[in-house]
Amino acid sequence: MNVLFTNVRIIDGTGAAPFAGEVLVQGNRVARVAHGGRLPPMAGVMVIDGAGATLMPGMTEAHTHFAWNNAATLDGIQLMPLEEHVLWTAGVAKTYLDHGWTSCVGAATAKPRLDVVVRNAINDGLIPGPRYLAASQEITVAGALGDDTLPHLPFPEFSFGQVVSGPEEMRKCVRMFLKYDVDSIKLNLSGDNFVPGAPAKTAWMSDEEVAIAVRETKLRDKRVSVHARSCESVKQALRHGCEVIYHASYSDDEALDMLEAQKEKIFVAPGLSVIVRLLYEGSEWGIDRKKATAMGYEEELEAVEKSLRAMHKRGVRVLPGGDYGFAWARHGENAKDLQYLVKYAGMTPMEALLSATKHGGEIMMKSDELGQLREGFLADILLVDGDPLADLSILANRDKLLAIMKDGVFHKEPELRASRTRWSLPAA
Ligand SMILES: [Zn+2]
Repeated sequence: MNVLFTNVRIIDGTGAAPFAGEVLVQGNRVARVAHGGRLPPMAGVMVIDGAGATLMPGMTEAHTHFAWNNAATLDGIQLMPLEEHVLWTAGVAKTYLDHGWTSCVGAATAKPRLDVVVRNAINDGLIPGPRYLAASQEITVAGALGDDTLPHLPFPEFSFGQVVSGPEEMRKCVRMFLKYDVDSIKLNLSGDNFVPGAPAKTAWMSDEEVAIAVRETKLRDKRVSVHARSCESVKQALRHGCEVIYHASYSDDEALDMLEAQKEKIFVAPGLSVIVRLLYEGSEWGIDRKKATAMGYEEELEAVEKSLRAMHKRGVRVLPGGDYGFAWARHGENAKDLQYLVKYAGMTPMEALLSATKHGGEIMMKSDELGQLREGFLADILLVDGDPLADLSILANRDKLLAIMKDGVFHKEPELRASRTRWSLPAA
């Protein structure tokens, strides 16, 4: 189908100021981006009169967990039986598209093949969902985030992650996930204030384990992403060539220098939702301000803000997304991250928007054809009621997304309005 968006205000995702114009989609690509006036009338084109609405690239979520089930504990996710879990995960994929996320980067799943199966179902057209890079489970070590076995219940099935010990077990585990055809391997390098016994500032994996994981992964041309809150874990990730760094809360000057030195290669997604929500809105989940502070969230928020502002100044790509799918930050609320990036990373609204669009195309490994409204680029497009640059919260409200297009096909078609024409079928 060919579609002409006319009478729209275009934010093209290049960083250019918004401009009035028209965008023509032919097949699954953007065929024309025109400033101002009208393209000559064309036969066989669906014309959508945007009535001044904003047209922008679809957004990319850089740290997605389709399999998280909005539970308040890791157990609540892990103990969901497989059959229900598959259906849940497939449903979540649609939720992301419903909220304007046309691409998502899997950051870990809860059972070995969940992410892969859902990605394949999306690609096969079996279920609706964003473009998706499927992740492994979290790979961890004894006692660290993701090891949930108990002394009297040493069953790996209870664990959120896959627990390995030593390079050979790591190699075996990584190869298993690569066999299952994941797009990325996830390593838990640091602890996390959410779990007792492994706080955020600690590091857990040996260099030998990380090195072999990265080597095996790169042999297959895949990517390693890491849970890295502590300073040492950020440095460890960079020493070994891990490309996607999640959290990076505690980054000292040396870590910042290392991040900057690799800024063309790496991506940082802080995943602020857990910290921000538990610190300010956790009471409902049994974590009041006092408890959240005792868990270290106040201190971590201060640290991550400092780290992010420094990274952003140094030109490190910081992306939205992260750890939605818990009770306090449910799937679909992800666009609040754009406001967090303004507040905590010091971005302008335009920079926050670019982090979700232009940089999104880059982290999806399609920088030459995704994340911008440019001729020849893939047609992942949002028609937005209002100006997101004046108010980023618009993007967190799915009702403001008048149309959602992925790969040239409407996931959400603009509604026909009687009084104000937003939509019309032209003469054939
Ligand atoms: Zn996560």
